[in-house]
Amino acid sequence: MEKKRDSTPAGPNESVSRQIVMSGIRPTGFLHLGNYFGAMRNYIKMQDEFDCFFMVADLHSLTTHPDTRELKANVHRVLAENIACGLDPEKVALYCQSQVHETAELYLYLNMMAYKGELEKTTTFKDKVRLNPENVNAGLLTYPVLQTADIILHRASYVPVGKDQEQHLEMARTFANRFNHRYGEVFPEPQAFNYNQNLVKVPSLDGAGKMSKSENQMATLYLADSDEIIRKKVMKAKTDSGPTEKNAPKPDYIENIFLLMKLVSSPATVQQFEDDYNNCNIRYGDLKKQLAEDMVSFIAPIRNKTDAILQDEKGLEQIMRKGAEKANKSAGETMKLVRAAMGLNYF
Ligand code: AMP
Repeated sequence: MEKKRDSTPAGPNESVSRQIVMSGIRPTGFLHLGNYFGAMRNYIKMQDEFDCFFMVADLHSLTTHPDTRELKANVHRVLAENIACGLDPEKVALYCQSQVHETAELYLYLNMMAYKGELEKTTTFKDKVRLNPENVNAGLLTYPVLQTADIILHRASYVPVGKDQEQHLEMARTFANRFNHRYGEVFPEPQAFNYNQNLVKVPSLDGAGKMSKSENQMATLYLADSDEIIRKKVMKAKTDSGPTEKNAPKPDYIENIFLLMKLVSSPATVQQFEDDYNNCNIRYGDLKKQLAEDMVSFIAPIRNKTDAILQDEKGLEQIMRKGAEKANKSAGETMKLVRAAMGLNYF
């Protein structure tokens, strides 16, 4: 099924065709631990093995955030946070979605192949309608179509995303296959990707739902949080009076604290608290203090690096320009194939 493509070398080490990777993050607020462990951690590992296209999804953000006054600053922040986490703009194409105009063209074609009924059934659409009933725009309904356009525009095979994106990826496969059946094989089937097999969902600190840019802010750990705020949020995480039986199953909110600990603490630390839990002598105050300190050690260097990168606006603009050049080259090649397959090449 996967089609060979002329690889656009995205960095100095690439000369042969490699598997294509594409993913994006919306500039709708500060990035958080969910973005890091669901998406960015994979980006950083993948940049050495794959031909990677990573974008700031500013067009997607317009479906829910129509006010663009803060957009540029938010785009810069997402770029800076990605770089601070270890993404190397020399190795990957790091760009802004609106800089690749072919996205809009492919989105248009794909919209003719996406049916109202299937779009209305999308869980994220239903959630957003519930949260914001006065702004149910067509862009919101066709959000998965735009996402498909972003991915298949580079003929990507792998899409590193968190668990919340599973259904969107299934739809991307449906739309790519529908195009291939109708007009001829152009696109590989994109797969959601995570190095540890299962897609990740980073839970919020209150045990209800997931960490998020805009909801649940006191229960979400942001990569920009100060040490003091991190400690405050972690210490507020819900616990109880502890297990009364040895090896008892953990309630969800306790399981979540352990899950967060596994992300940032050493295996020995996690094991010690697991043993304490199983022997009924766990002190949740100590568990949360340890988690808070390990979170501070994880987040503080990223926050400080981001702040330094944000000082250099010209440098960020340069990175975006270079990224757009790489993405435009790849998009141009794909669109030639798309127009030819659809019979839209009249001369
Ligand atoms: P978004 O913040 O919706 O633009 O998502 C950007 C990326 O972060 C996507 O790949 C999401 O799947 C991922 N992501 C967002 N929140 C979480 C979370 N709580 N746990 C895991 N992944 C997440």
